[in-house]
Amino acid sequence: MLQKSSPFMKQANLINGEWVGADSGKTIDVINPATGLKIGTVPNSGKAETRRAIDAAAEAFKTWRKTSVLERAKMMRKLHDAILDNQDALAELLTLEQGKSLFESRGEVGMSAAYILWYAEEARRTYGDIVPSPWADRRILVTKEPVGVIGAITPWNFPSSMLARKIGPALAAGCTAVVKPATQTPYSGLVWGALCEEAGIPKGVVNILTGSASEIGGEITSNPLVRKITFTGSTEIGKILIKQAADTVKKVSMELGGNAPFIVFDDADVDRAVQGAMIAKFRNSGQTCVCTNRFLVQSGIYDTFIEKFAAATQKLKVGDGLETGTEQGPLIDEKAVAKVEEFVADAKQKGGKVVTGGKRHALGGSFYEPTIISDAKEDMLFTKEEIFGPVAPVYKFETEQEAIDLANNTEFGLASYFYTRDLGRVFRVSEGLKYGMVGVNEGMITTVEAPFGGVKESGLGKEGGHQGIEDYLDTKYVCVGGLGL
Ligand code: NAP
Repeated sequence: MLQKSSPFMKQANLINGEWVGADSGKTIDVINPATGLKIGTVPNSGKAETRRAIDAAAEAFKTWRKTSVLERAKMMRKLHDAILDNQDALAELLTLEQGKSLFESRGEVGMSAAYILWYAEEARRTYGDIVPSPWADRRILVTKEPVGVIGAITPWNFPSSMLARKIGPALAAGCTAVVKPATQTPYSGLVWGALCEEAGIPKGVVNILTGSASEIGGEITSNPLVRKITFTGSTEIGKILIKQAADTVKKVSMELGGNAPFIVFDDADVDRAVQGAMIAKFRNSGQTCVCTNRFLVQSGIYDTFIEKFAAATQKLKVGDGLETGTEQGPLIDEKAVAKVEEFVADAKQKGGKVVTGGKRHALGGSFYEPTIISDAKEDMLFTKEEIFGPVAPVYKFETEQEAIDLANNTEFGLASYFYTRDLGRVFRVSEGLKYGMVGVNEGMITTVEAPFGGVKESGLGKEGGHQGIEDYLDTKYVCVGGLGL
């Protein structure tokens, strides 16, 4: 397996077009979460390497910003093709370090390619304005310019596509980038360097390095040459980065944690709701920011929903993501399993009933059984905190307003879902939910054409859609006077 992926397994930083190790020569081991075995190593870099990467990006920006949008779009289309030409090998690499099923990894890699193509197209549409002038002899022009060097930091749960959403708009806008992928899944990040090389993107435009999060992050957020930070990860780290970026007043976009409600009303199509619930809960073993954290089910349909949901959940095939037929892989590490165990123990102690699952999987390691807990109550840990695992707590409610209030009772506001066949309710509830994204009768709604992002403590800014490039552009007003008209 590894043999086939190895041309893509870059075990070095890409700085100014050179594949290099850390200055200290130190490395970090990368582990396959399905087997606990070492896959390889990556450089343990720090401040000095990051500074060099930023300097290289700043130098490359001088020429990259002047390339025409057509040239950039052409290279990006090559990048898109390079990803799709190698989709299977890239998916295998992703599964090897992250654990998700090959089916899901192929989907993620496909999504990465789709983001690049989308931004190749959007590059040509960063329109400005000519504004009616209040002066007879002056004209007002409003233009869009690339912000400059951007710093991107990404998590382990979608190590490929989270970077596509950042590298894509950066390249399209004419920015250059310094990228730090998550330490647990660095290869799907480093491979972006190889793919950019294959697409002919010049040296220094995309620089990628691995190592100490606080040192790399500290340099990226404090260095005045970096004009924008784009981060996907936990709300806790996002808050630190916003504070650090304040001293040099950088633009920030933050894709942070979630606590998604999934509401099923009495009038819903239950089978459709169960189908949506499976994908909204168990995708990537529950380790997605848009995964359902709380199922809120109306009393009249509560028992039926749980019965059908449990039947579907029990059919999930758990195993090594590389094995054919696997639907749910392991959790990322032991810490993640311990957190899930703590949440389940807390729920049981407070009256929650385990309908199915509820313990570590017989496969051992970091495998956990797909789990449903009924009789969930507001005082349980998962009411407030992200589970990030395959556990589905099901709460009961009586009225529409109660469901909206329960759903909104969180500091997060990323994704939300609800199922109903009542048209009036579709609008009342979608307008009542304080969330950046709402799925109505759909359990998976992410697509490159739509703006992905949260409100409240789930983040700032949007990725995807025509909005996704805005954060990579500065708006400039030019007043042309003395026209003698
Ligand atoms: P995390 O712990 O916040 O880590 C994310 C990234 O930040 C990693 O690259 C990490 O590096 C780095 N990091 C950690 N401490 C840092 C510091 N002091 N300075 C600079 N960088 C630092 O999050 P995670 O556990 O990887 O990912 C799960 C979280 O991401 C969940 O909360 C999930 O909801 C959120 N998420 C949000 C979205 C969205 O679009 N809203 C999408 C996916 C995930 P190391 O790996 O080296 O620690």
